[in-house]
Amino acid sequence: MSTQPVRVRFAPSPTGPLHMGGVRTALYNYLFAKKNNGTFLIRIEDTDQTRFVPGAQEYIMDALKWCGIMPTEGPGLGGNYGPYVQSERKNLYRPYAEQLVAEDKAYYAFDTAEDLDRMRDQAKQMGMPNWQYNSVTRMSMKNSLTLPQDQVSEMLANGAPYVIRMKMPRNHDVRFEDLIRGWVVVNTNNLDDKVLFKSDGMPTYHLANIVDDHLMEISHVIRGEEWLPSAPLHVLLYQAFGWDIPQFAHLPLLLRPDGNGKLSKRDGDRLGFPVFPTNWTTSEGELYSGYREKGYFPGAFINMLAFLGWNPGTTQEIFSLEELSEVFTLDRVSKAGAKFDPDKTRWFQQQYLRSKSDEELAQLLKLEVEQPMSDEQLKDICHMMKERATFIGDMVTEGAYLFARPTSYDESTVQKKWKEDSTVLMNEWMNIMEGIKPFNSENIDVAFKAFLESKGIGVGAVLPLFRLLLTGTGTGPSMFEISQYLGKEESLQRMQLGIEAVNQLKINA
Ligand code: GLU
Repeated sequence: MSTQPVRVRFAPSPTGPLHMGGVRTALYNYLFAKKNNGTFLIRIEDTDQTRFVPGAQEYIMDALKWCGIMPTEGPGLGGNYGPYVQSERKNLYRPYAEQLVAEDKAYYAFDTAEDLDRMRDQAKQMGMPNWQYNSVTRMSMKNSLTLPQDQVSEMLANGAPYVIRMKMPRNHDVRFEDLIRGWVVVNTNNLDDKVLFKSDGMPTYHLANIVDDHLMEISHVIRGEEWLPSAPLHVLLYQAFGWDIPQFAHLPLLLRPDGNGKLSKRDGDRLGFPVFPTNWTTSEGELYSGYREKGYFPGAFINMLAFLGWNPGTTQEIFSLEELSEVFTLDRVSKAGAKFDPDKTRWFQQQYLRSKSDEELAQLLKLEVEQPMSDEQLKDICHMMKERATFIGDMVTEGAYLFARPTSYDESTVQKKWKEDSTVLMNEWMNIMEGIKPFNSENIDVAFKAFLESKGIGVGAVLPLFRLLLTGTGTGPSMFEISQYLGKEESLQRMQLGIEAVNQLKINA
């Protein structure tokens, strides 16, 4: 058993906002580190300067913070292995690439973009559409393996543009054991001579990634399945340097709700759900919506994400981040792609909303409400509405009558329930209400039942009328709680106004 401390990293490229698949990768890294008393760090992989998007790094940090899964080492966070942004480590990579050249494991290639295009075209004409720079073709290209040594030295001295390519061994099986996928074996004849170091003086992702994972003493590489094809090259690079190889775990893809393909950044707003943790506006002003701004609680979002590709092996579905950190193991991560389910996501949000105390919800509701309201009122609203809301904002829209008098009356209730004698019936009930003391839900409930009994009529004939007058709606929380909340005076006034308005509607109908 190795005693190497667990150190894992999330290594996003700042090429845009963080997709929820990226958040899941960060989450699994976070959970794995917590579970194993390890360290979770973030490294920004920005070696591809052409794909750099301003604001993306800040977005990523802000999103992780909102999710509550902050790394403990990273840009702006400190740590002994920095800098944690690859462009700030720029000068560190070249010697590693040159070391491989010196050891005949890599070579300088001077081919221009036109040279490469020409080779591809020629190959295509000969019926080989997938030309690669590899162990066979490299010998007919312009590189330090084919050109005379003095010419190479001269070109380098004269500053001729070059890249450094991996000298992929011929017909060699690369094997490694992935913690999720088991043994992976790839023959090097299927791999090309990847560029390790570019003409702009920057390493490619592959070189920078493994140099940094080595220097940052990463024990486990937990990342998305899309990087699985790169893993054999990475293994070969570790071997070429003679370094210990971290354990790999390639996470399953996140699929569209119908299981048809990868969940892409365009799917979200098209199919009516966010795919980003927080809002992102592109430089062209296009908005991609985020879970935060849609009103999701970070706990609900994280809980949902944890289940996209992992399960605890029990029927429990609601887990706090702390609980997840206790039970998470990579051996319960599935190989198969995980279908994103927007309904289930809303379900998680509902569960989280319901599990919060009225006091806690009241403080959140306060932020959504413009008019002045007491904490007590807000708490009552939350108490009444929380079973009927998915988001805090629903309490304001669904329970609009708790904030203001109704301005309209549900048409179908008016048509179906408001009869000739309804005015008289409601006036009688108002008289009874007048005498209820104290005017609280229990007393209103008792009085209401007694009223029904005295009239010999069922609840279904009276309660909808009562609700209609007080709230304008056909459904909602307990009428006794609503009346207590509104108070006797306001309740009676609403009933009076309601009776007039509904009768008017009847006349006009
Ligand atoms: N920079 C890569 C990305 O953007 C990281 C892949 C890895 O974790 O090795 O996903």
